[in-house]
Amino acid sequence: MQIVVAPGDGIGKEVIPVAEKILRILHPDWEYIPVLLGYDCFVKTGTALPKESLMALTRADAILFGAVTTPPDPDYSSVILSIRKELDLYANLRPIIGHGFDIMIVRENTEGLYAGIEWQEKDRACSLRVVSEAGTRRIARTALALAKKRKGHVTIGNKANILKSDAYFNRICIGEAEASGIRYSLKYIDALVLDLLQHPDRYDVILTTNIFGDILSDAAGYLVGGLGCLPSANIGERHALFEPVHGSAPDIAGTNTANPVAAIRSAAMLLEHLGDTAGAAKIHDAINQAIHTGCRTHDQGGSYTTSGFGEEIVRWLTKT
Ligand code: ATP
Repeated sequence: MQIVVAPGDGIGKEVIPVAEKILRILHPDWEYIPVLLGYDCFVKTGTALPKESLMALTRADAILFGAVTTPPDPDYSSVILSIRKELDLYANLRPIIGHGFDIMIVRENTEGLYAGIEWQEKDRACSLRVVSEAGTRRIARTALALAKKRKGHVTIGNKANILKSDAYFNRICIGEAEASGIRYSLKYIDALVLDLLQHPDRYDVILTTNIFGDILSDAAGYLVGGLGCLPSANIGERHALFEPVHGSAPDIAGTNTANPVAAIRSAAMLLEHLGDTAGAAKIHDAINQAIHTGCRTHDQGGSYTTSGFGEEIVRWLTKT
C-alpha cells in the first residue's frame, strides 16, 4: 500500500507524525510518502499545492492529511478545498462517538456554499451556493448505504424552509430514501444543532450540505471533548483522504501541546477504509485505554504533550 502523508501547517506537523508512527507500527511493510503542501509550502516555494504533491496524492491508496492554514487573502484559495475538488472527495464522514451515542455526520464535500464560485463587485461580495442533482444523489446514497449497515435511520438536516437550494436537496434525498426503504426524518439545521447536543442518542446518520455539516460537526465536538478528538474521512470513487476535523491551530502550533487523538483516530479510519478493521479497532482500544488510565493533553485538562500522548498509545498498542 502507498500512503501519502501530508502534515501541512501548524499543529498538522505535530499530530500527523504521531499518527504516522502508529500506522508504521501496524503496517511496517507499507510505503509512506511525505508530501509538501499548505501555507508554509506557499511561502517557501510560491505554490501551496505543487504539481508533484498533487500527483502523489492522486497515486496514493490513501492519504493521511494534517491541516492547512488559509490566510484571509482573497487571492489565496484553500488547499484542502482544492484537493477535495481535484480528487472529487465528495463525501465527508465525521463520526461522533461517545457514551450512549454513535453518530455519523455525512457532509456533502464539493459544492454548496464551498463550491468556490465567488466574485467581488463594487459594493458587495457574492458566494454562489450550488446544489446539483448528481451531487445530492451521490451523497444521499452514501448516507443511506451507511445507515443500512448501522441503525437504519437518516436525519436530513438543512434550511429548506428558507433556501430553495435546500428544498431541492431535500426532494432528492427524500426520493433516494424512499427508494432505499431506509427510515428518514427532516430537521432544520438550527434546531438540529441544539437537539443533537441535547439528545445525541436519538441520532444515527445525519445527511447535510457542505457548510452546515462543517458547523454541525464542530458543534458536535462538544459531545466528545472538543475539536482535538474529532476524526474525519473524505471519500470519493477513486481516492480517500483522512484528516482531523480541526484546523492548523496557529495559537498552539509549535508548543507540542495539541491533542493528537483526532489525527490518530483518522489513521484508524484510514485502516478501516483499506480493510484492516482489526487494526482500526486496536487503535481505538489503545486510545480508550490511555484516556481511561488518565492520559490527557492540555485541552482535556491534563499535562501530556502531543508526543508524550503518542508514546502512551504506542505503549498500549505494543503491549502483549
Ligand atoms: P480552520 O478554519 O482551519 O478550522 P481555525 O483556526 O478556525 O482553523 P482550529 O485550527 O481548528 O480552527 O482551532 C480552533 C481552536 O481549537 C483553537 O483555539 C485551537 O487551539 C483549538 N484546537 C484545534 N485543534 C486542537 C487540538 N488538536 N488540540 C488542542 N486544541 C485544538
